[in-house]
Formats: sequence, structure tokens, C-alpha cells
Amino acid sequence: MKKLALLVLTAALTACGGGSDTASSPTVVLSLLASTNVDSSGFPWSSYPGVTKRWALPIPVKVNGEVRAGPAMDAIEAKLGMVLFDRTSLNSVAVGNVTRGIVFSQGTSYLPTGADPQGFCANVSDGPYAPGFPGGFVRAPGEMSARLYVNLDNPKCTAGADVVIHELGHALGLGSHFQGFGNGPAISADFWSVLDTLYSNPIGTPKANIVYKSPN
Ligand SMILES: [Zn+2]
Repeated sequence: MKKLALLVLTAALTACGGGSDTASSPTVVLSLLASTNVDSSGFPWSSYPGVTKRWALPIPVKVNGEVRAGPAMDAIEAKLGMVLFDRTSLNSVAVGNVTRGIVFSQGTSYLPTGADPQGFCANVSDGPYAPGFPGGFVRAPGEMSARLYVNLDNPKCTAGADVVIHELGHALGLGSHFQGFGNGPAISADFWSVLDTLYSNPIGTPKANIVYKSPN
């Protein structure tokens, strides 16, 4: 399966104060979830169209001493009201032996030659400095299962707390950006609603059966 397209942050992500950040209606949230995950057209989904695609819980995470990882995972688990992450089982596993889980990596954001470092401050991919997701990271009926890197920072940009949560959002199954997730702010009320709805429905739930869930 071919490598999937580049996914990066833009400098605009950190500019929003979020003062008018109110949650959209359930109908809108479901349409955002469709665009970023359920439909096959949006990055990075090339298979399993029309159903929810996410990890089975808990998701192993290799923190690699990254101090921003814990608060970001705490924030996600508090908002969703569930434990998503297994933060310990990969501690003693060499990264090369990790087959399923999220690996934090510091200083390894993909930065193309000549690109604005502020626009490429963090990304999710199949390895350090790499632009693309691994091939075949979704299996029936829609379960994400792979080694996914969350690359934070480059020599001229340090990812802030919201950007770390944003990248975890990608790693958890949010593909393309939408308003309130990379378009405008890095994260928003709608980001939380979309993520909570995704993880409150079973893996592989058909689009018509997805139930909206309001985050904490
Ligand atoms: Zn993004």
C-alpha cells in the first residue's frame, strides 16, 4: 500500500485565542467526523470507507521521556472521560520492536528543505523526520494498528501544549483538518466533540449508526 500524503501543522495553528470557541450542533459534529475519519476521501483513509476508524483501547504509548506527553494524554482522557492510553507497557520495549502504539519523538518533525520551520513544527508519521503514515495501518472492521510516531519540534520551532494534543488527535484517528482542528485553532470545542464521538462508538460503526457524544 502506498505511503500516504504529508500532514503538517501551519503557523496559524497557534494564533487563535479561542474566545468564541463554542461547540457546534450534533449534526455539524457528525459531519466533521465524517470528513476527518469516516469518509474515505479525507487524509489518510484509503480503506474502510463509511465506518469509524480508531484504535482498540488501551493504546500503548512510548513516552520516551517527553514531558509534554503526559499532560496531553491527561487532557484527552479527562475530556473523554475514559482511559485511552497505556503509558507503561512499552517503557522497556525498544522502539524498533514496537509494532502497535504511539511513539513520542522529540526534535524529529518533518521539515522539508526550504520550508518555514514554524509551519512544520510537529507531525504524525511512520518514523522520525518522515512525512507519511505507514501503509495498511487500518484493519477490519476499522481498527487502527501500527507504530505511529508523534514527532515534536524542529531546530527552530517548539510545539506548544495545544499542538501536542492536536497531533495526538491525528494519531487517534482524525485525518484531515477541519475548522477548529488545524483550520484556525489547533484544537477547539468541536475538536473535542469529534474525538469524543469517535471513541464513544465501536470500531467500524457505519456512518448512519454513529451516535453523537458531548465531551466533558
Ligand atoms: Zn494537523
